[in-house]
Amino acid sequence: MPTLDDIAAQLQGYDPQALSVDQVQEFLSRLVQPVVATEAVGLVSALGRVLAQDIISPLNVPPHDNSAMDGFAFDGRQLSSATALQFKVVGTALAGKAWAGQCRAGECVRIMTGAVMPQGLDTVIPQEMTTSTQSDGDMLVTIPPDRVRPGDNRRLMGEDLRQGEVSLSKGELLTGTHVGLLASLGIETISVYRRLKVAYFSTGDEILSLGDSPREGAVYDSNRYTVHGMLVRLGVDVVDLGVVRDDPARLQDAFSQGAEAADAIITSGGVSVGEADHTRQMMKQICAESGGVAFWRIAMRPGRPMAVGQLSRPGGGRTLLFGLPGNPVAVMVTFLAFVRPALLQMMGARPKPAVLLKALAAQPIRKKPGRTEYQRGWVFCTPEGELQVRMAGNQGSGVLSSMVQGNGLVVLRHDQGDVAAGDPVDVMMLDGLV
Ligand code: AMP
Ligand code: MG
Repeated sequence: MPTLDDIAAQLQGYDPQALSVDQVQEFLSRLVQPVVATEAVGLVSALGRVLAQDIISPLNVPPHDNSAMDGFAFDGRQLSSATALQFKVVGTALAGKAWAGQCRAGECVRIMTGAVMPQGLDTVIPQEMTTSTQSDGDMLVTIPPDRVRPGDNRRLMGEDLRQGEVSLSKGELLTGTHVGLLASLGIETISVYRRLKVAYFSTGDEILSLGDSPREGAVYDSNRYTVHGMLVRLGVDVVDLGVVRDDPARLQDAFSQGAEAADAIITSGGVSVGEADHTRQMMKQICAESGGVAFWRIAMRPGRPMAVGQLSRPGGGRTLLFGLPGNPVAVMVTFLAFVRPALLQMMGARPKPAVLLKALAAQPIRKKPGRTEYQRGWVFCTPEGELQVRMAGNQGSGVLSSMVQGNGLVVLRHDQGDVAAGDPVDVMMLDGLV
């Protein structure tokens, strides 16, 4: 288990007072250890879990060649581009009820979508491309020239998933699509990593809990709710430890409670260098013997101060501490930039680069080189179909309302300077994350 000092020593140019966003992400990716315990779950419980095994397809999907259309199946070798063909219909193949006969030249089989292709037949013409007539009790179908080629409208056995091949690999964070795919293979139970447990609390004498009466100089706790939302979106189990006063004994108590119960503890507030920033002192004290703590000044906006620590748990294992800044938007931004990727890694999920949208700035944006900025923006599509982003309200680090007015965070890179109207910028969309 690496200590924070070990990792700091591995990183080139590590200066806790001046870290770039990339360096912080790199630091955390080296610190985090994925969970190892697994459990078996049924498919209805698999959504949002991380796959702990490779899935080898036990069968072919589809299990047999079948028709992609309602129409008529025939042997495509008879097709000619010059003339229409007329076939006698000699049977019907339904989905789930194959036609077992044998077709001869000049004959076809009426076939429904999903029905097994009768032996020797490889081509289906959709019903709407044909005309049919009755003659002596027989149904005759006319196929115009140049409408289908041999092999058309036939789905091949195993074209979706091939028996014996890996269809999903370990580390996949399962969405409804993955679960559907597992179901298509007839798989009922899978092995997933155990769920993470994450505890969180807010700190500060001025922080009110819901139900408290307003008082001068105090504000209601919003961080616990935004953090809760982002944790639930990640699919972890949560432990809410409430609001903790700026009081060493209570803080110590909250940290020990969290460490007993959780893989990670997320706090907000109290990590800058203010007089009452007891969280910082307490993290220093409790992490001293078990892996250490680092206090960072990150070249970013919002979200400059942040602390990371680790605590050894009495029964083995460890708990990671994330001391986020206090300002409500800084909390959300540091969570999305650092805590979320770290927790995903801890959950056992394979790292995936964040997919950012490229949108054109609808207005000039001021930006100082030498820090990463996350600005709240509203991404929209112009009538011409161009993706643009305009800034959403007051960009203060405590202004949560502009987080609501925006639908994404414009990510302005470390070295980037001012952005002119019309320049492309990266946007992290908030949908599904918060
Ligand atoms: P701190 O880092 O503790 O000095 O907090 C920075 C700013 O964030 C202060 O204005 C705090 O009042 C505010 N703040 C801290 N925690 C919360 C919270 N849980 N909800 C809303 N605002 C907070
Ligand atoms: Mg505080």
